[in-house]
Amino acid sequence: MALTGVEIFKLLPKTNCKKCGHPTCLAFAMKLAQRQASLDSCPDVSEDARRILGEASAPPVRPISLGVGDKAVKMGEETVLFRHDKKFVNPCAFALEIKDTLSEADITKKIEDVVNSEIDRVGQKLKIDAIALTNESGDAGKLETAAKLISSKAPQVPVIICTTNLQAAEAAVKPFDDRRPLIYGANADNAEAMANVAKTFKATLGVSAKGLDELSTLTEKIKSFDVEDMVIDSSARRAKEILEDNTLIRRAAIRKNFKPLGYPVITFAQREDSLHEALIATIGVAKYSSIIILSSIEKWKNLALFTLRQNLYTDPQVPMQVEQKIYKIGEATPEAPLLITTNFSLTYFIVSGEIENSKVPCRLAVMDCEGLSVLTAWAAGKFTASKIAQFIKESGIENEVKHRDLVIPGYVAILSGSVEEKLEGWKVTVGPREANGLPAFLRARAT
Ligand code: SF4
Repeated sequence: MALTGVEIFKLLPKTNCKKCGHPTCLAFAMKLAQRQASLDSCPDVSEDARRILGEASAPPVRPISLGVGDKAVKMGEETVLFRHDKKFVNPCAFALEIKDTLSEADITKKIEDVVNSEIDRVGQKLKIDAIALTNESGDAGKLETAAKLISSKAPQVPVIICTTNLQAAEAAVKPFDDRRPLIYGANADNAEAMANVAKTFKATLGVSAKGLDELSTLTEKIKSFDVEDMVIDSSARRAKEILEDNTLIRRAAIRKNFKPLGYPVITFAQREDSLHEALIATIGVAKYSSIIILSSIEKWKNLALFTLRQNLYTDPQVPMQVEQKIYKIGEATPEAPLLITTNFSLTYFIVSGEIENSKVPCRLAVMDCEGLSVLTAWAAGKFTASKIAQFIKESGIENEVKHRDLVIPGYVAILSGSVEEKLEGWKVTVGPREANGLPAFLRARAT
């Protein structure tokens, strides 16, 4: 169980020396209990206390890295069951299955699909994160050949080698020796041998068993072979089983600090029918999978899954927002139109995207409204005539543009008169209500 603030306090030196940056040992203990401070900040803590507190303060779901460099995937480290309690830490990764029975051309095509899967959505890069190479053939040589091809064509992409065949695992993992691969294939029959392969190649080990009891026994056994980096699979494949097992695993880890299940979860979502596959994957995204294996890449499926993942892994207590400033879009001259909106990320990216589509260079004044959208900010009194006027005056835009014409969003047309009153010498034009009306609106003004 995680220790309470008072239990932690009892283990601290109790000198209130303030070296940790907190006024008292008790205040520091409270921060440790909330996982908002690091024990390293107290230089005087005893070795014994450090050991006890170190174990207690380790994240209940073990942190694991897959791959190296910029494209490495981080998993685990979660501390809560629900995102309204605290932000989820590491977004689940999507991996595309590549079977070793495919031809070289087909494998190459799938590798390219993964490499080219990246899209930009509200300022974040979203992509298929990894490749899961499966030993469909059962042949070690075929798996090795496919592994070498993947290693040479996509050296940066994290890789999961899926096989229960020891020889095949050894042969296929070699090309990824220094790249922190994952070998998914340990079970009750081959645990010790697979643990040795994982140790030799510094790989994370994927462990599967039938149900949670067998799974927790198996992870403890593998831990006794000195392998601690594991991802776990309870063999749940149907939607209901995935939902149940993933929830029980996360609850056991978070609520009970039950270490045998305190590992990231891998989910196999592959289905013949893409829509069915997408639905299974959404359960994994929403309910605690750390890696989800997909059989194919389709743009619609990627977009749906990326958007769901992005929304769940943002901090619900902090709206996504962009910096307050005047953004130039295109080669904006001093005569270019000036539009204003709020700093909610989604609003900014949609409005700026539509301005780009119009091909009319503009300036977009983005006003800090604490990350609220236009109507919400207006209703909350943060996007008012006085505040808009003050922002425009203080922004220095009057030295940048030759005109005095401000385009406001159509949803706040009601503000046009009062903004003109407060912004002396300026004319206010009401723009379209929806951002998708901007291209026609701007082109009409340009002619
Ligand atoms: S540095 Fe350690 S001993 Fe000093 S106040 Fe902080 S917790 Fe207490």
